[in-house]
Amino acid sequence: MGTFAREIYDVVGIGFGPSNLSLAIALDEYRSEGPDNRPKPSAMFFERQPSFGWHRNMLLPTTTMQISFMKDLATFRNPVSRFSFVSYLHASDRLTQFVNNQDFFPTRQEFHQYLEWAAAGFADRVRYGTEVTGIRLPATTEAGAAEAYVELEIRSGSATRVVHARNVAISTGLVPRMPQGVQSDERVWHSSEFLDKYSRMNPSELKTVAVVGAGQSAAEITRYFYDELPHAQVYSIIPSYGYCVADDTPFANQIFDPGAVDTYYFGTDRSREAFWHYHRNTNYSVVDDEVIRDLYRRSYDEEVRGLDRLRFLNLTRVDQVKRAGDETRVSLLSSADETPELDVDAIVFATGYDGMEPTALLGDLDRYCLRDEKGRHRVARDYRLVTTPELGCGIYLQGGTEHTHGLTSSLLSNLAIRSGEIAESMIGRRAESAAETPFRRVGAGETG
Ligand SMILES: Cc1cc2nc3c(=O)[nH]c(=O)nc-3n(C[C@H](O)[C@H](O)[C@H](O)COP(=O)(O)OP(=O)(O)OC[C@H]3O[C@@H](n4cnc5c(N)ncnc54)[C@H](O)[C@@H]3O)c2cc1C
Repeated sequence: MGTFAREIYDVVGIGFGPSNLSLAIALDEYRSEGPDNRPKPSAMFFERQPSFGWHRNMLLPTTTMQISFMKDLATFRNPVSRFSFVSYLHASDRLTQFVNNQDFFPTRQEFHQYLEWAAAGFADRVRYGTEVTGIRLPATTEAGAAEAYVELEIRSGSATRVVHARNVAISTGLVPRMPQGVQSDERVWHSSEFLDKYSRMNPSELKTVAVVGAGQSAAEITRYFYDELPHAQVYSIIPSYGYCVADDTPFANQIFDPGAVDTYYFGTDRSREAFWHYHRNTNYSVVDDEVIRDLYRRSYDEEVRGLDRLRFLNLTRVDQVKRAGDETRVSLLSSADETPELDVDAIVFATGYDGMEPTALLGDLDRYCLRDEKGRHRVARDYRLVTTPELGCGIYLQGGTEHTHGLTSSLLSNLAIRSGEIAESMIGRRAESAAETPFRRVGAGETG
């Protein structure tokens, strides 16, 4: 069979956040755990950020993880992985001190350092500063083989190129959500832009600031503003009466167990609905107890001192934001009959995220992907999109599977197990289609 100089991988990952980093580890560790001596699959990951970064704009000092350090990239799948959080602590010569600290929840800054450390181990398998702009079937179809591959269009600066993949792992992350009609700019920010936009301001010019939302990010930014801007008036605009606490007690926490994925996936509509009905307060629009108490303490201290620098506008929503030069006027809808207005120097919308949605990236390929009666993608238990037979290539989702796999879809809790399941499935498919291909394979580490 003839060979063509094409760049082809067993696995291409779109995005290199924690999910695909965890997959890179699972693929890398496969051989030692695997049933035989099959070679490791070739893998390449494309990440549009210039270097590894995990929600960098929310790495506020003292903010902590919302999962145990043991729910790292690998431990639940492989407790002796060299990419565990404990390995990282050991490599950083901080294991003893970490244990002395007696805390299951490291700061986000420390977890970020751990992720960067793990990502550095895959420098040969990830291309930073590259964005995948589309996936399609190859234009020139080699009889009987081409449908087992897809082409991915990769953009890097003004250059574009194409790579081929037998399996694709889409892991492009959550999508920041702004209220309808509100545009972000240099004074109006989404929380996902926070530290970057904040760093471009002169703090002394921020005399009045507002934060919209009642979730974890909103509470953290409110606290940050209050502490960092001692001269500023800080408004927290919240739709509820007060912040609601995140339930991380042991029974409720079981919904993030690996086993809960099966219960959800193979459950009935009613049981799936029960997950959301009873346990939404484990993660959505809720705040860690410690942050709530910390904020309330500040608010109470203000009262004691006769100050009013931190104000909570409860049962209130933003109706409109009007911008003119440096001026920002915010119209509010409050439970009282009035519609107050605020003039602010900056306003942060900590209004959450939409789940990952692969449709745009899939483009024309989407017509091969089957959907359920509600129009959502059908996803197999191994996280592979269910497709018509024409598409032999495996397209896997890491994220955007709340409707099939439950609450852990966008979280770190089940990463290690999920990545292991995906790696296993990809490797199994590779064994099935071991037939000779008309392409030149590019091994891990080569750029083709
Ligand atoms: C502030 C914050 C704190 C959080 N804390 C926790 C926590 O403590 N515990 C928890 O379980 N969950 C937490 N989460 C949830 C969060 O979804 C996960 O932590 C995690 O980021 C999921 O990893 P991911 O790799 O799926 O997505 P992401 O981390 O979002 O990574 C996706 C990556 O894909 C890249 N990308 C996107 N499109 C393309 C493209 N077309 N081409 C190339 N690259 C692309 C992006 O640049 C990004 O780096 C938090 C979320 C936020 C916003």
